[in-house]
Amino acid sequence: MQQKDDWVVATTGTAASAGLKASHHPFQRAGAWAVAVLAGRAAPHLVTTADLDTVADVIVTDAVAAATAREDTDLGRYDWWKALFSLYPNSPATHGRRPQDAAVLRPRIEQLFAPDPPRSKSRPCTFCGADTAVAWGKSGLPLFGTERTLNVTPPGVRGWPVCRACRIAMWALPYGAWASAGDATVLDCERETAMAAFARHNVDRARRIMDGGFRSLRPGARPELVALFAIRDATHDSGEGSPLCGATLWRFRNDNQEPWLKVTRARRGMPVFLATVEANARLREGWRALCRHLAGERGEKPAANEEEADRPLFDAEGGDDAARLLFEVEYGLNRPLLLALHDALSADGWTLGEREALVDLAHAYTREVFGLETDLEPVAALLTQWITQAQRPRERLKQLREAIPSGYRLGQVLVACTTHSLLGRTGLRLAGPDQWAPLIGNLPRAAEHRLLLHARVSLLLQRHDSAPGRS
Ligand SMILES: [Zn+2]
Repeated sequence: MQQKDDWVVATTGTAASAGLKASHHPFQRAGAWAVAVLAGRAAPHLVTTADLDTVADVIVTDAVAAATAREDTDLGRYDWWKALFSLYPNSPATHGRRPQDAAVLRPRIEQLFAPDPPRSKSRPCTFCGADTAVAWGKSGLPLFGTERTLNVTPPGVRGWPVCRACRIAMWALPYGAWASAGDATVLDCERETAMAAFARHNVDRARRIMDGGFRSLRPGARPELVALFAIRDATHDSGEGSPLCGATLWRFRNDNQEPWLKVTRARRGMPVFLATVEANARLREGWRALCRHLAGERGEKPAANEEEADRPLFDAEGGDDAARLLFEVEYGLNRPLLLALHDALSADGWTLGEREALVDLAHAYTREVFGLETDLEPVAALLTQWITQAQRPRERLKQLREAIPSGYRLGQVLVACTTHSLLGRTGLRLAGPDQWAPLIGNLPRAAEHRLLLHARVSLLLQRHDSAPGRS
C-alpha cells in the first residue's frame, strides 16, 4: 500500500478483494464507489481488506474531529459535523450527549466498523448478501427505520443486517455524495465511469468542506452540473457503446423530525442532446441565452454574450441552473427545460437571432430526448396570421399563451382561427384537424407539442415584426 495523500490512501496492492460490492441500493452503491475512490481503486470490487481498514480509519478520524470541533475555531470540521448530522442523527458521532473528549469518543465510533464478533449467529447482509452478525438501524443507515420498527425488519433481528464492508460504505456515503449542511444528493447511473467521476469530485469537495467550511465552496453550485459532466464524459468515452444513458439523483435528509427524499431523473437521450448542443453554434447560443434569462430571473446581472463566446458550454463555473432543468421530478408531469424555454420565449427583448437559437434549442431537446419530429409549421403559420391580422394582436397572443397548457382550450383557439381564415379568405393553406391532432388530442407528448408550437409562433411573430417596412 502506498500513502498518496491524506485521502487517497492506497494505489497498489495485490491482496484479495474485501468483498465490497456496489449493490442496487443507491446509497450503498454511492458509498461503495466513495470507498473505491478513497482507497485509490478503480472499482469497489478491487478494494482489499487492508483498504477497508484504512478507509474506516479515515472515516473515524474525520468523524471524531468533526464531533469535537467548535464552530468559532474550526468551521470546516464543524461544517462536516453538520453534514454527518443530516445523515446519521443519534449516532455516536452526532448524538447531543456525545463525549467531547476525542480519546473517549474514538473507540465508540471505531466500534461501528469493527469486524463481526466471532461465533455469532449470522444473516445475509441487507445490501450485498454476505454473512454478518451485525444489525443497524436509522442512526447508521440513512432513511431506514429505527431498530424498534419490528414490522419491517427481518424476523428476529433488531435492525437490518449489514456486513462490515457495507457499514464502511454507508459511512463513506457523505464523501461520495454531494453533501450540504442539511441534506445530501446521490447519483445513480448505469455507467460505472460516471459513478466514479461523481464520487471523485465529491471526495475532493468533502476535503474542501473540512478545510474551509461550506462557505469556501462556489456559491450557486449544484450537483446536477457535476452529474452532467460525469455522464457526458462517460458516454463520450463509451466507444462503440450506446450514447444513451439515464441518471437518477436521490436527494435526502435523514433528521429525526422530518426525513425526506426527492428523486429526479434525467432521460436516457440527455447525453445525446448535450453532445448535439455542444457541437452546434446556434444551439450553444440558445443554451447561453437561456442561462442569461435564468440569471436575470434571479436578479443577477447576466454576463455579456461576447464574454461567454469563448467559454466552454458546460464548465465548472456556471450553468448550474440550466443543468438542473435536465432533471425531471419522478412521476411528475413537469418538463422543466421546455417550460423554462417557454418562459424565456414569452419575454420580449430578444434579438431575432437569440429567439431563433432558443426555438432551435427547444426543437433539439424534444427531438433527441422525446423523439418528436412533428411538423408544426402549418399550424404555427395559421396562428401567426390570426394574431397579426387582429386589431389588438397582443390580446390574441395572450389568448394563445393562456391556451397552451390545455389541449381543449387550444382546440377552441384553433377553431376560432380557422373560422377567421375561412371568412377572410386569407389564401393561407389551412392547417386542418390532422395537423391539430398531436396538439389537442389525448396522444402522448401533446403538452410538449403545444410548448413547441408556442415557441414556433413566437419566432414567426418576431420575424413578421422585423420584416422590412415594419420596424
Ligand atoms: Zn454487505
